[in-house]
Order: sequence, then structure tokens, then C-alpha cells
Amino acid sequence: MSNLFSRVTCWVSLFVPVLCAASDGLKYVTFAGQPTLPNGEYQWTYNRSGEPQRFAGGEAIRLVSDAGKTWEGVCGVRFLFDGLSSNNPQLNTSDGDSVISWTNPVGGPNSFGVAYPHFASGSIIDADVFLHPDNSKQSLQFLQGVITHELGHVLGLQHSTNQVSIMAGTNLSDGTSTGVRYIPEPAMRFLQDDDTQGCRRLYGTTHPVRTFPWKDDGVTEYYLLSGDRYFYSSSITDRNTIERTGMTNPLIRTGYEFVAWNETNKPTAAVAVRRFFVSSLGSHVFTLKSNEIDALRANPNVFADEGVAFFAVPPASSGACPAGLTAVSRLYNGRTDGNHRYVVRSSTKTKMTRSGWRDEGVAFCVQS
Ligand SMILES: [Zn+2]
Repeated sequence: MSNLFSRVTCWVSLFVPVLCAASDGLKYVTFAGQPTLPNGEYQWTYNRSGEPQRFAGGEAIRLVSDAGKTWEGVCGVRFLFDGLSSNNPQLNTSDGDSVISWTNPVGGPNSFGVAYPHFASGSIIDADVFLHPDNSKQSLQFLQGVITHELGHVLGLQHSTNQVSIMAGTNLSDGTSTGVRYIPEPAMRFLQDDDTQGCRRLYGTTHPVRTFPWKDDGVTEYYLLSGDRYFYSSSITDRNTIERTGMTNPLIRTGYEFVAWNETNKPTAAVAVRRFFVSSLGSHVFTLKSNEIDALRANPNVFADEGVAFFAVPPASSGACPAGLTAVSRLYNGRTDGNHRYVVRSSTKTKMTRSGWRDEGVAFCVQS
């Protein structure tokens, strides 16, 4: 009885993790050789194939995003959403696309999630996550706990012998292991001290992401869960408002952001980037090209000129940016619900064009 009481007490106190932190002396386990994600970054895509109807509004993408932010909050890792993918997850090979998807490769009703990190030269180069469609019967808290656990594997953590950690499980001598949960659902979303220490061992505590509440003048990317669309804001006030809205917010932060300039710190080569709003699509267009600005202004009923969003340097006609600046490419979805995505990384561009978005070339050059 006292044992039961002790356990219940610990469960309750998981809301204040320090009270029952790894008191059994056991702790996190890493994969052999301690492979890590390059730069602590996990660029993930999401495959909707097989997705339970319950998540048709994008809620599962939000759960992955929230689980990623949980890890970002304690150690030097960064989760970056690269959009939807039709690629199938891989068990033991790498296709360079870390996909989170809905299939059950292991079988059995109790396998709620499986992660397959793929290693090369001490790095985790690809890590696919399989979510069992049976998760659709579980609470969102339970599923977020499962995803938080699988993302721990993606980061390089094996099952912890601390049975009240998010990474709790059993590692067998044959190299296989099984995660087992002893934590009640409300606490499952929260990392425990053992999880935190494991991630910090691999990635340190220096956080590479500028985070909420916003203080800088970066341009932050958001994803509209219900519509497969992207939204950008350079307003500190707007960004803080967006992220304070929490669970009811239809937008998630993708993790991508670029830093342009404002009126007071812009270099002489910078020009105004104007934002236009297309109310019929609920979509914005950013451009610094005078011919585009003139064309959009010629249709004020369709394109509402919202003024200067930020300042950036125009690319050369070749699309090249001046040395030291970062090129931002504009992609277009080509759909009737027209929408642009502005990307910095070629790897993101590759994945987006593979899923049907058109590369419209370099839109502007920014600080970073
Ligand atoms: Zn596991």
C-alpha cells in the first residue's frame, strides 16, 4: 500500500518534476557512439497518407510541433517543418527525408509509435517516425506523449532505465528495445529531469532558436494547419499575439525565420518589401520588384497594398545575392488557393518542389 502511495505521489508530483527527478539513480541511455543530429536540427516532413480522419484539420502536425518545442525548451535542438511529403517512411535506409507518418511497421495493438534513426559517421542523417493509426482512439495528451517519446529517439536517445521519464523503456541484449509508459496521460507531455539531462548531454543547453516572446525583427514563418498554407510576420506584436493564442490557434511556427532589415538599420542597397493581401484567398504576397508592385496595385480589389513589411536587398538578374547575404526563394503552390512559401534552405526547396510547389526564384536577399 505504501508502495502504491509512493508511486501515486510521484505521478502527481510529475507536474513539479524536480521533486522526483531520477531519484532511483538510473538514467538516460544514448545510442552506441552517441550519434547526433547535425547542428541539432531535425528537418521533418509529414505524410498524411493513412492519417486518421480525426486529424484531418492538421491537429497531428500541431502535436509534433508542440512535442518538438518541448525538447527545444530544454536543450540545443531545433525542429524545422519542411511541409507535407508523399514519401513513405523507411525502416533501415535513408532517403534524406525524415517523414512522420501513419503506418504500423511492427504490428501489434500496443505499438503506438516507432522511430527509426539512421546513422552515418556519428550523425543521425535521417529519422522516420511511424505513428500507429490506433492512436486515433487515444487522447491528444497521450498522442503528444508518444510523439515526444519518438522525437527523443530521433534526437539520439535510447530508452531510459528511469521508468518515470518520457523515454522510459527496456533495452534488450539483442539490440531491440521497447518503450513502456508508467506516466498518467496529463503528465506525458512533459519532459522529466532524466530526459532533459539526456538531451543536454548530446546537444548542450545553448538554444539555437530565437523564441517567443519575440523581441527581434526577424520574419517568422507559420503554417496554417487546416489549409497547407504558409504565413509570415515581421511584427513583434503580431507574432506574440499569434503564439499566445495557444491550442486554439490554427497556426504553428515551422521553426524557420529569416532576418531582414527595418527602416533604421537597412543598408543603402536595401529597398522596401511590400506586403499585399489577397482577401479572397486569405493569402499574402511579398515583393520588392517594381513591376510586380505595379501589377498588383493595378488590381486593388484583389490585392490590397498593406504597405512596407520589411527591407531587403534585390538579387541580381541571375538570382544571385551579394556576398554575405542570404537568398530567400519564393515558392508557389500553383493551386486555386494560391499561396507562397519563402525558403532559405535548398533542402527545404527540394522537398517542396517534389510535392508540387513551383520555384519562382530568389525573391530577396536578407541578413541571415
Ligand atoms: Zn521508444
